[in-house]
Amino acid sequence: MRNIAVLGATGSIGGSTLDVIARHPDRFRASVLTAHRNVESLVDLCVTHRPELAVIADPSLEGELARRLAAAGVRCDTASGMAAIAAAASSPLCDTVVAAIVGAAGLESTLAAARAGKRLLLANKESIVMAGPLLLDALRAGGGELIPVDSEHNAIFQCLPGGRPGELGRCGVRRLILTASGGPFRGRNRGDLAAVTPDQACKHPKWSMGRKISVDSATLMNKGLEVIEAHHLFNATPDTIEVLVHPQSLVHSLVEYVDGSVLAQLGNPDMRTALAHALAWPERVESGVAPLDLASSEPLQFESPDLGTFRCLALAFQALREGGDAPAILNAANEVAVEAFLAGPLPFLSIADLVESVLTELPALPVVDIQTLAERDLAARSVARRLLRNAC
Ligand code: NAD
Ligand code: MG
Repeated sequence: MRNIAVLGATGSIGGSTLDVIARHPDRFRASVLTAHRNVESLVDLCVTHRPELAVIADPSLEGELARRLAAAGVRCDTASGMAAIAAAASSPLCDTVVAAIVGAAGLESTLAAARAGKRLLLANKESIVMAGPLLLDALRAGGGELIPVDSEHNAIFQCLPGGRPGELGRCGVRRLILTASGGPFRGRNRGDLAAVTPDQACKHPKWSMGRKISVDSATLMNKGLEVIEAHHLFNATPDTIEVLVHPQSLVHSLVEYVDGSVLAQLGNPDMRTALAHALAWPERVESGVAPLDLASSEPLQFESPDLGTFRCLALAFQALREGGDAPAILNAANEVAVEAFLAGPLPFLSIADLVESVLTELPALPVVDIQTLAERDLAARSVARRLLRNAC
């Protein structure tokens, strides 16, 4: 029996994870559930999944959580705060951790799970983008394993020999090809995008996701973060990672070998496939995802990304090549920019401008430790907020 901590249980990935878990009560059990502020949804999930511990990030809501759980007849422990989420992720209550908090807020608990030697199912790409080398060190020290959940990286993991990256060159790998849907604005030019709204940006043609990653998909920053994620996960140089736009979102990524073979992983665009794969690996379990019907699907199209319109992808490659903590600066600036876009004041095209200005103002420094990284993250956010105040 796997005991699973679902961090970010009330989100899109959290919901898909719990759906897969509930299909296999003989194998999987949700032992820890966490949420940010949504007490009502967390209590509903506790009623259904009966975890041993429920953690709410906002400490002012723990009393309400405990009262509502008692009123619903659920006997489970409660805790609150980010440190409590990290403690739960490294506690004996779980052997597996699904890191599905959005943004840099997920870093502390992701690192804690890695250090504690858990099986880490990584959805929270921002944590590996920010702290790639530190997260990989923590994994080595903890002796656990990381199974990527991001659909592209899960696809690559499935296409590599034995699911293990090792040295890509020694496995005969020439290129990793990450597919991208192109988002809701594929084919548009900059003029078309000047006045797009948050709701338009969040209307993803193929995937149903949280609002932050939906905006990242619309700007292609999501693919940029995924390029950096692939670099760390698979020890791949920037020159061996390519992005290919594939609007049908059925081919989730590809691995090209030196003999000309290209292996791809296909499936319907539903995160339960990657989650079921990562939960059961190296076995396979049913996920609830409909079988792929290629005969009746639209023809599969592939095209190169438009880096002139979707500048965030180019900026992510630039930060990866610059190295050091440039990806953490990129991520922090992007989080502030996306928040400002979702809240109204920042135009869609200015997301890339803001990220670029912050990268220029804060040239990369080496990644030393988590403390220094957290300080740089804060510095990047404060530069971004100052530039925002001047711009809006
Ligand atoms: P979401 O917004 O739907 O859910 C986020 C979850 O994190 C919620 O449970 C929320 O309560 C929690 N959370 C938010 N801020 C928090 C904070 N400050 N402290 C503690 N908890 C907090 O997001 P999502 O779409 O499920 O994405 C989660 C992560 O998975 C992101 O990093 C995203 O990039 C990644 N991801 C998502 C998808 C997808 O299909 N949704 C696919 C690949 C990767
Ligand atoms: Mg992805």
